[in-house]
Amino acid sequence: MAKLLMTPGPTNVPDRVLQKSAEAMINHRSNDYYQLFGELNERLKRVFKTKNPVLTFPAAGTGGLEAAVVNLFSPGDRVLVVVIGEFGARFAKIAKTYGVIVKELKYPDGKVAVLEEVIEAIDPDIKAVIITHNETSTGVANNIQALGQYLKDKDTPLIVDAVSSLGGMNIETDQWGLDVVITGAQKSLMTPPGLAMISVSERAWKLVEKATIPRFYFDFKKALEYMNKDKPQNPYTPAVSLIAALNEALTMMEEEGLDNVFARHQKVADLFREGIQEIGFELLAQDGYYSNTVTAIKTEKIIDASTLQKRLEKDYGIIIAGGQGDLKGKIVRVGHLGMVNEEMVQDTLAAIKNIIKEEQ
Ligand code: PLP
Repeated sequence: MAKLLMTPGPTNVPDRVLQKSAEAMINHRSNDYYQLFGELNERLKRVFKTKNPVLTFPAAGTGGLEAAVVNLFSPGDRVLVVVIGEFGARFAKIAKTYGVIVKELKYPDGKVAVLEEVIEAIDPDIKAVIITHNETSTGVANNIQALGQYLKDKDTPLIVDAVSSLGGMNIETDQWGLDVVITGAQKSLMTPPGLAMISVSERAWKLVEKATIPRFYFDFKKALEYMNKDKPQNPYTPAVSLIAALNEALTMMEEEGLDNVFARHQKVADLFREGIQEIGFELLAQDGYYSNTVTAIKTEKIIDASTLQKRLEKDYGIIIAGGQGDLKGKIVRVGHLGMVNEEMVQDTLAAIKNIIKEEQ
C-alpha cells in the first residue's frame, strides 16, 4: 500500500501525473518536445503570476538557489539575507560559498521577519535582498508582499526562495515586485523531485548581465536563449519525464482553478492547526504568521518526537518530518500541500490522537 506523505516535500503525486512521467520517451530535439516545453513555459508563467520567463533546470530546490546566486552576483557583492530558519541559512551559505559577502538578519526559530527591521538593514552597499517566503523548518511565512512592494521602486532587487510555497500559497510575482522567485517541483506542484523553476524579472536580468561568478550548467542566459528559440528547448538534455509530469500537474491545477487550489490549502491548514491544538500541542510558529503548507508542532511536553514519527509510519503508513538542526527532537513537521485534502488531514489527526492515547 502506498504510504501517505504528510511531509513538506516530496509530496504525494497524483496518478495522472505519475502516468505522464511513465510515458514512452521522446527526443528532446523533436516537435513533440518543443510543444510540451512551450506549453509548460506558459503554464509556469501563469502559476508564478509573471509575464517574465520562468527558467527550468533539472535540479533540486537547492540547485535553484545556487543557480540564482551564480547568475546574479559577483564575488565581493554584498547581499542582505533574511534568516528565519534552516533554509534562509542555507541560502546565505550558498552565497558565501561563491564569495558573496552576506549581511545576515537573523530571527529565532518560529519568528517572522519584521518589515521595518529588514528595511533598516538595507544599507547603500546592499546589492539585493534574499528572503525565504515559507520557512519549511519552522512553519512560518514571511510577508514577501509587503517587502516586495516596498522594494519595487527602490534600487534593491528581491530574491525569494518559494520552494515550499509556490503553488500552495498565492504569490503575485509581478504585482508584488519579486525579482527572482525560485521553486521546486516536488512540493505544492505535485510532481516527483528533480526540477527547479526560477522566474527572472527585467531588473534581475540587469544583474545577470553584470554578474561574474563562474557558471556553466546553470547559466540563465543560455537557458533563456534556448527557451526563446522558435522551437522552445533547453541547452542540455532536459529531464523529459519530469517536464511531462509537471506540465500535467499544472494542467490539473488550472482545471481546479488556482484560486481554488490556494483556498483548499488555506482550509486544510486551518483544519490541521485547529485539530492539532485541540489535541494539546503548541505550534512553533508565531501567531498569525502561519504557513499554509507546513505546520511545525512542539512535541516535548506531550510525546517523544521520533516515537510519534515512527509509530505514524509503522501503524498508519503516514509519513511526517522531524525537526532540523537545533529543532531536532523538539518538533515534528507536517506538510499539507500539493494534492492534499481534508480527509488526509483528518486521518493524520486521528492517528496522532490514537498514538498519544496509547503512549500516555
Ligand atoms: N528552500 C525551502 C524553503 C525548502 O523547503 C527546501 C526543501 O525543503 C529547499 C529550499 C531545498 O530544496 P531541495 O531539498 O529540493 O534541495
